[in-house]
Amino acid sequence: MACRVAVIGGGISGLICIKCCLDEGLEPVCFESSDDIGGLWRFKEEPEKDRASIYPSVTINTSKEMMSFSDFPIPAHFPNYMHNSLIMDYFQMYAEHFKLLRYVRFQTTVCSVSQRPDFARSGQWDVVTKNRQGQEERHIFDAIFVCIGHHACPHIPLKDFPGIETFKGKWFHSRDYKSPEEWLGKRVVVIGIGNSGGDIAVELSRVAKQVFLSTRRGSWIVNRVGDKGFPMDMRFSRLTHMLTVILPITLTSMIGERRLNKRFNHKLYSIKPKHRLFSQHPTVNDELPNRILSGTVLVKTNVSRIEGSSVMFEDGTVEEDIDLVVFATGYTFSFPFLPSSVISVSENKTLLYKYVFPPTLERPTLAIIGLVQPLGAIMPISEMQARWATRVFKGLNKLPPVNRMLKDIKVTKEMMEKRYVTSQRHTIQVDYVRYMDELARQFGVRPKLLRLLLRDPRLGLSVLLGPCTPYQYRLYGPGQWEGARQAILTQWERVAQPMKTRAVPEPPSSRLPLLLALSGAVLVVAAVCAGINLPDLLASLSNWRMYVPKPFLHMV
Ligand code: FAD
Repeated sequence: MACRVAVIGGGISGLICIKCCLDEGLEPVCFESSDDIGGLWRFKEEPEKDRASIYPSVTINTSKEMMSFSDFPIPAHFPNYMHNSLIMDYFQMYAEHFKLLRYVRFQTTVCSVSQRPDFARSGQWDVVTKNRQGQEERHIFDAIFVCIGHHACPHIPLKDFPGIETFKGKWFHSRDYKSPEEWLGKRVVVIGIGNSGGDIAVELSRVAKQVFLSTRRGSWIVNRVGDKGFPMDMRFSRLTHMLTVILPITLTSMIGERRLNKRFNHKLYSIKPKHRLFSQHPTVNDELPNRILSGTVLVKTNVSRIEGSSVMFEDGTVEEDIDLVVFATGYTFSFPFLPSSVISVSENKTLLYKYVFPPTLERPTLAIIGLVQPLGAIMPISEMQARWATRVFKGLNKLPPVNRMLKDIKVTKEMMEKRYVTSQRHTIQVDYVRYMDELARQFGVRPKLLRLLLRDPRLGLSVLLGPCTPYQYRLYGPGQWEGARQAILTQWERVAQPMKTRAVPEPPSSRLPLLLALSGAVLVVAAVCAGINLPDLLASLSNWRMYVPKPFLHMV
């Protein structure tokens, strides 16, 4: 009998789950409470209940090659960092290409999900939904994907801001921010220096009289534009990742901090945190230093009190005549339709094996997808989680015994607590490559580097030295995609394509080809000594131009 799977939420995680179900021959039914797909990325003028909300100018901070679905690269002409409207275009293309929309029931909210009386044997669930007219419907499903995101419920710790009830101006959470025009010539305090806080402070500072950016701890500020203009997140290869695993975190943090301070001295800008670079989710913002340098954003300490129109800060300073306070203080998450015996959440902490499976269920037929805060893009991670979970639902992959899962959760939690500043923000934190590899290992799709280097050196070198793009997890194993190799070898072309908008004259040639030839010779000798397939390696080296990103070919 076919396995029927309920997918709760039609955001990007939900769409991915539908696709993964279809790939594995399962029958998905997706319930989406709003009238469209896309979740957070579907811009709406008015924020909707239970749904994340963005403002019109939001541009993603993970680059297109790093956020792409592993078997559906983003079109070459799309910019590297996409506006939310383009992200929606891409999601629509994905949904249309894989014919996913027919499985979505819009304007249908999931009200409750509970184990059936014979759950221990069947693993089945009772699901109650409500449609737009308020009619309830009952369903039975063999498995459940929960894909409701974690940016829908604002976290505003009002007790930490005594006097807020006396505030004469307007205040709201960053979720409710839409546009700056209303704040022309006004004085604004933005509380919180996460990605939303930074972006909103920058946008408001273009029209406001003055923006004060209040931060408890400060933050390290990372650029979207990395060295030589490449997307920052593409500068990290598997090799870099291996080094971060071997080297102590204090050392890697120190190296990273030095680089960030080279761009602008965080201390000089009053933004330097006490903690190390890799102890907090970094803030990605290319413009903030510029706004601080031009004085339109002033960095302040934590707010200690609010009185009338005045905002007092912990260092004793007071700013008068404040018109607006924006709380960019993050989000809380919960699963209101699930019994607490299945999953309970306290201060954004919950027990999930690899952030996916409740560990104590008698049958592993419920998976939470997208409940991570990665140093990297969420989309490929949701995809990897869903690929693994569908195989667990089908019984093709088994979970370890409960005690081993609980131990794994404990170790992960301890590692996170040791590394990160204590905060509600750091409870579901994952490192992109490490976590992707960990999940990929569960069902045999982790790239085997040595094998690749020996059998297909050109590809192997791209996987080792290039960015860890999601296509790497489609090279073999379940869900193998025949386009994966080509997608990896052409990734830099897709990076360059959208910027080819003007012919640039070639400068005179340099000595670099000679240096490259010498390095090649050294590599060949090393390869012979290591017993690597020489003809194959030579063929690859003769194609050295393939490894140099196109826009930079003129330099060699
Ligand atoms: P969502 O997009 O939140 O979708 C959840 C869906 O579930 C919604 O459509 C909702 O209507 C539906 N739903 C909820 N409850 C129910 C119910 N009971 N019944 C039926 N339907 C329900 N991530 C990145 O990777 N890169 C970025 O640069 C990035 N930038 C971000 C910027 C901002 C301002 C914010 C807030 C987040 C950002 N994120 C970013 C994280 C973002 O959450 C993910 O990119 C992505 O949207 C997660 O998709 P999702 O499908 O898991 O959740």
